[in-house]
Amino acid sequence: MTDLSATTLSSAPVPSAADYPGLDAWRDLPAVQQPTWADSEVFRSSVAELAVLPPLVFAGEVDVLRGRLAAAAQGKAFLLQGGDCAETFDGATADKISARVRTILQMAVVLTYGASLPVIKMGRMAGQFAKPRSSNDETRGTETLPAYRGDMVNGYDFTPESRAHDAARMVKAYHTSASTLNLIRAFTQGGFADLRLVHHWNRGFMANPAHSRYESLAREIDRAVKFMDACGADFDALKRVEFFASHEALVLDYERALTRIDSRTGLPYDTSGHFLWIGERTRQLDGAHVDFLSRVRNPIGVKLGPNSTADDALRLIEKLDPQREPGRLTFITRMGAGNIREKLPPLVEKVTASGAQVLWVTDPMHGNTVTSPNGYKTRIFDDVIDEVRGFFEVHKGLGTFPGGLHVEMTGDDVAECLGGSDPIDQEAFVDRYESVCDPRLNHMQSLEMAFLVAGSLAAKKGA
Ligand code: PEP
Ligand code: MN
Repeated sequence: MTDLSATTLSSAPVPSAADYPGLDAWRDLPAVQQPTWADSEVFRSSVAELAVLPPLVFAGEVDVLRGRLAAAAQGKAFLLQGGDCAETFDGATADKISARVRTILQMAVVLTYGASLPVIKMGRMAGQFAKPRSSNDETRGTETLPAYRGDMVNGYDFTPESRAHDAARMVKAYHTSASTLNLIRAFTQGGFADLRLVHHWNRGFMANPAHSRYESLAREIDRAVKFMDACGADFDALKRVEFFASHEALVLDYERALTRIDSRTGLPYDTSGHFLWIGERTRQLDGAHVDFLSRVRNPIGVKLGPNSTADDALRLIEKLDPQREPGRLTFITRMGAGNIREKLPPLVEKVTASGAQVLWVTDPMHGNTVTSPNGYKTRIFDDVIDEVRGFFEVHKGLGTFPGGLHVEMTGDDVAECLGGSDPIDQEAFVDRYESVCDPRLNHMQSLEMAFLVAGSLAAKKGA
């Protein structure tokens, strides 16, 4: 993953509120979207267990990532963040994890070429187990039960037992994250990420005649790889890549229990993942999530939906990045294709005028969710792409840098989003819709998006 020589391998004891007076301030603030744990004894023992388990990520890696994101904020790198809407315990299999990592690496090669910039690779993986919901309950027929809130909180099965909020699931989320990360580290350090191999996989995408429109770009990349080879590029060095883990920091009991003081810096790091974001539903300025995350050293993201005002953005900067440290704060905008060209410019303009240097990333998924005529939650590929295009247009118009892409995707051949050059139609949902939450781009749709974005990035470069 990353050079560990600069990191501490000792897991310092979880800091007490006495060590860090502010670290528990969130407990007195309104915290929305939190579980109501069924058994307080199980809750106490689960949190106590988490508090002494080893960190999932190391503080030094988190610092490396902050540096990479700072480069992206300055227009010198591009962030690719992708993975499930909601990871599941059952879905943490070697096949699914490797397919997802592989797809992200494949997308990254295409984007690296398109942007002529390093691409920071980050999974919505190894911790994305908790979901905010618009309703507390779900009704099926005559029965109403608590809504599914992610495997960290309750089960997807529609029974009272499964839907009860069980704190022991936090411990299982930790262990599932640990085994997922272990596999990711093995893949990305052990030769699986070899540039030539990743490039070779992309030939599978091009073998589909539906993708012939990307042929010239694919040929250019092919020539670039051959050119590197001919020049004697050290492909051995390209066998290893940095890969970072991220998730929405939603369940604060879990995030707090995994927070450790780094022995090098003496500062608190949330060691549940490298990068944590605050969701659209939990970004209240005086709420518990913003307060808690303001106090850890990790790079932080905040989702900004179409109702966000420039004032919200400025106040979030004040709270989460008072030192104006590049790499600390990422705004992940999810406006919807129909809104982005109108809603994004005032935010970017006012934030830029304030002197803050945040990283701007587009999430073209969450503002474009619709219901298909046959009743599935879906997204239309062209809408997703249109939001990405709008994001690039806005930044081009303002002279700012469109720094990254945040997508819900999988490496599997599912049918959850409509369209693409080899189109998915709604009839395919019946057999191949697997997501327990939002619809994801499948393997081919994800690669197609990378080709389209690479085309825009290359055009931007030439402009
Ligand atoms: C998500 O990322 O799955 C999510 C719930 O997004 P948002 O907070 O932007 O709605
Ligand atoms: Mn989602």
